[in-house]
Amino acid sequence: MNQKDNTTLILRLKPLLSGFLLWILCQTNASAQRLRDCAFSPLYQQKVMSMKNAFLSRQAFEDSIRHLVQQKKSRSGRTAEAIIRIPVVVHVIHDNRDSLTIGGQKNSNISVQQIESQIRVLNEDYRRKEGTNGYNTNPVGADMEIEFYLANRDPNGNVSTGIIRRYRDKSIYSINEDLEDISKISYWPSDRYLNIWVLPDIYSYLGYGQFPASGSVDGLNPDYPNAALTDGIFVGCQYVGTTGYLADQTYALGRTVTHEVGHWLGLIHTWGDEYCGTDYCDDTPPTESSNSTRFCNDRYSTCVSGQTTRNMIENYLDYSPDACMNVFTQDQKNRVRAVLELSPRRRLLVNNNNSLSETATLQLKIYSNPVQNQTLYFDATYQGLHSITYQLTTTQGSILINTQLNNQPSSSYSLPVNHLTRGTYILTFNTDTEKASARIVIP
Ligand SMILES: [Zn+2]
Repeated sequence: MNQKDNTTLILRLKPLLSGFLLWILCQTNASAQRLRDCAFSPLYQQKVMSMKNAFLSRQAFEDSIRHLVQQKKSRSGRTAEAIIRIPVVVHVIHDNRDSLTIGGQKNSNISVQQIESQIRVLNEDYRRKEGTNGYNTNPVGADMEIEFYLANRDPNGNVSTGIIRRYRDKSIYSINEDLEDISKISYWPSDRYLNIWVLPDIYSYLGYGQFPASGSVDGLNPDYPNAALTDGIFVGCQYVGTTGYLADQTYALGRTVTHEVGHWLGLIHTWGDEYCGTDYCDDTPPTESSNSTRFCNDRYSTCVSGQTTRNMIENYLDYSPDACMNVFTQDQKNRVRAVLELSPRRRLLVNNNNSLSETATLQLKIYSNPVQNQTLYFDATYQGLHSITYQLTTTQGSILINTQLNNQPSSSYSLPVNHLTRGTYILTFNTDTEKASARIVIP
């Protein structure tokens, strides 16, 4: 089935009819060996474009993005963009009655290793990291300068692994109907975290990433009711990461989530969801249709009369197999950077999480020592992302609290110490390369 034809058709039909077509789509495509198909376009049409003034508002959003991108481009010289770090919460909504068994084949309660492999892939792809699948030598290839890490604190400030596990007696979900119900099972505020819901399976699609809301650009607000509650990524568990329960080798390198996070950051499919449509990026060639195949063969388009151009099948926003993908372009980066400033929830998320500046060497800053209010607050700042451990020990070296987290940026921590007797303790903090410690007094 040709994806382009489906979505183009859906764009042009009335909502009732398109709903029926989507139902057909879901029924006919649900199989283990489906081709990449993401629900971005049909759901966007259904939810957003059905709203009054939606088209005008979307146009205004695109105009404001273009304006900001041009402003950034015209500034003399390239100012280094700050690296943006995004905390991720992964909600594993699984259908394994035996909730204690985590990981293993055909277990939708996927392992920590599988989730961490996905976070690693996101960082390789969004940083165009040398020596990884995410590296490219494309002249327009961009380091997006965005990094992702499993949240180290929950919305209440408590220490967290960033992974929530919930059992539900349901093995397949509908992107068109179930998103709000899924959010009711588990959700963290989408203006502070990137929510990734991992589901046992999804009808017809590998995944879905919600487009950023434009806020009230030009006085219009296309944010539909409850949009904040479903703002994130929904993905079938067998398309997460590079290890663990992976059903289809074509999509076993973690690029489904890279693609969906692209939508979440405001990117559009390279073919613009219609024949030779636009993705609002000049350096992705005009494209007739998606690479909905299991191959990385060259494909060509003649969108501009008299010119044959090669499709950028290696772009993360095509439908190519995982192994073909390794490019975000400079214009896609400019677009994402503009969206992160213009879209209210994305702007809040960035501002809420990037307040701690890096330091050249590891620095520990303890707040109120002796400890007050039975909670130890401290900042650990350093360069880049590190696997970190922090321990609270007695002065004789007995470990009382031991926490280990991977791929963490400079962060603030809060540690409840109400179960400890008064006395002197040692806080030790390790990164991959450095170690710092401090004497803590519990009064
Ligand atoms: Zn997509």
